[in-house]
Amino acid sequence: MTGYDEVLGQDLIKKFFHNCIQTGNVPHACILSGEAGMGKRKLAQAFAEALLCERGGTEACGVCHSCRQAAGGSHPDLIFVTHEKPASIGVKDVREQIQDTIVIRPYNGRYKVYIVDEGEKMTVQAQNALLKTIEEPPSYGVILLLTTNADSFLPTILSRCIQLKCKPVSDGAGKKYLMEKFQVPESRAEIYAAFARGNVGKMVELATSEKFQNMYDRMVGLLKNIKKMDISDLLSYIKELKDEDTDIYDCLDFMQLWYRDILMYKVTRDVNLMVFKNERNTINEICEKSGYDGLELILQAIDKARVRLNANVNQDLALELMLLTMKEN
Ligand SMILES: [Zn+2]
Repeated sequence: MTGYDEVLGQDLIKKFFHNCIQTGNVPHACILSGEAGMGKRKLAQAFAEALLCERGGTEACGVCHSCRQAAGGSHPDLIFVTHEKPASIGVKDVREQIQDTIVIRPYNGRYKVYIVDEGEKMTVQAQNALLKTIEEPPSYGVILLLTTNADSFLPTILSRCIQLKCKPVSDGAGKKYLMEKFQVPESRAEIYAAFARGNVGKMVELATSEKFQNMYDRMVGLLKNIKKMDISDLLSYIKELKDEDTDIYDCLDFMQLWYRDILMYKVTRDVNLMVFKNERNTINEICEKSGYDGLELILQAIDKARVRLNANVNQDLALELMLLTMKEN
């Protein structure tokens, strides 16, 4: 697989890039925004390769000299802007790597493409420096700004860029992708897809990480037995999770999916709507013992715990309150 095929979904963005090349109407500056893992870099690279390809099709041919150079990271007209400081892209980075070099015409083809990853790290000064280039770009200049947060750009930058947003893929498409490409069993693929909320990179990470497996087993263990456990058991459980460096927010997401499953099953009695199909017996059991009000309270308690953790309230206390609600309802 090459180019756009490496990214699942994002059809609108792919179509836009196709059209640009087909019509010759290539924008000088684009902002590609979306969470980490949604394919921004791959999309930008595929578009850049297509622009630079010697055969001039809407997608890179993958075999010409230019395509081979681009794929190998050594194309002189494809520039990945780097930054000295890890936390910010400064004015010096923009001046030296974009402003000073964009005046030099492309070596081979019709375009010279700049990819600025982590665009949200650009300082205001760096953005103002970039603005000068974007305001009067040379005909061959194409700047692709990638970012997890388009709001970090100045309005003057935003108004001069074409804005493209990566969209979450559907759970169904994500599930199919994991099953076909990573041979993940269906029941598991469904959980990863639901958990990653349409972020393909995250789905793949979950499917291939031991850490998630460990959390999964622990969470199911906890949620199955929570009513039988006493407070000291629960507290030591939390401590163990922390010692293992488990992401508490992931745990909360997990619990939310779990209780949503129970509520959904209580309402519909339809196993097909469940995320945790493998645990259907346990879910059925809990479902019999829990009322609607109790389940609502639990879901609210999970939300509340998340708010409290965000507000830096004592973590143990926030989790303890939530687990007590789960235990008692
Ligand atoms: Zn080519």
